[in-house]
Amino acid sequence: MSLLEVEDLAIHFGGVKAVDGVSFSVAPGEVFSIIGPNGAGKSTIFNLISRIYKPTRGTIRFDGADITAFQAHQVAPLGIARTFQNIELFDHSTVLDNLLMGRHTHRSTNFVQDMLFLPAVRRAERAHRRRVEEVMEFLELEAYREKMIAGLPYGVRKVVEIGRALAVGPKLILLDEPASGLSVEESQDVAFWIEDMRRDMGLTVLMVEHDMRLVAQVSDRVLAVANGKPLAQGTPSQVKADPAVQAAYLGTEVAQ
Ligand code: ADP
Ligand code: MG
Repeated sequence: MSLLEVEDLAIHFGGVKAVDGVSFSVAPGEVFSIIGPNGAGKSTIFNLISRIYKPTRGTIRFDGADITAFQAHQVAPLGIARTFQNIELFDHSTVLDNLLMGRHTHRSTNFVQDMLFLPAVRRAERAHRRRVEEVMEFLELEAYREKMIAGLPYGVRKVVEIGRALAVGPKLILLDEPASGLSVEESQDVAFWIEDMRRDMGLTVLMVEHDMRLVAQVSDRVLAVANGKPLAQGTPSQVKADPAVQAAYLGTEVAQ
């Protein structure tokens, strides 16, 4: 059974059909990528799945439940976490605090318990710290633990953004252009982490990415979109060779 099923998804902003009839499903443990030119509707698909936008049409099912009408805050506790194309971190907090904030969705204690610092609170706090330490070790972020986000190089902030999503402890992680702006070497690290997320953490990955080398390296299947519409779906090499995909990328560097 699929972990995520998107069927005939559409959202129209006035006259702009940002997403228009997109369907795909992602199996547990799969790495599934969405590619397409700028403005194709890729980030909008992520905003629909994470319930920031309300679709004009279509359904989204996750882990057997219809989540199309869910609120954004209901999605993380189900096991969906995401990164943002433009990095959404608290610039004046440390790496550690940003990752701990990623754990907020797991809060099971209440305010009075927090005030009294009851054993349940201490236990929950320890579990949060443990998960965050695991994520920091996984992404090799320990050296930056107490560093403020604002002072970090772009490449490190991109990794912290992935860490914040992983700290949630998701089943499905949505990565919006995790390699954009990264060096070849940093992109290679992202490829290894994606492979490890699947193998060691049992995660399912849905990725939007322009770097076709990264897409081909890690993806089981790829969906190409343009102008909100699906162009082709299949293995990375099938999609890359598709005439409609080739035409959509004509004159850009992505088709190489
Ligand atoms: P991509 O991520 O593929 O580059 P986006 O999903 O960001 O593209 O955008 C797809 C289209 O939807 C663009 O034309 C964009 O301007 C439009 N769009 C996205 N969000 C909104 C919004 N909130 N209001 C109006 N138009 C939007
Ligand atoms: Mg985008």
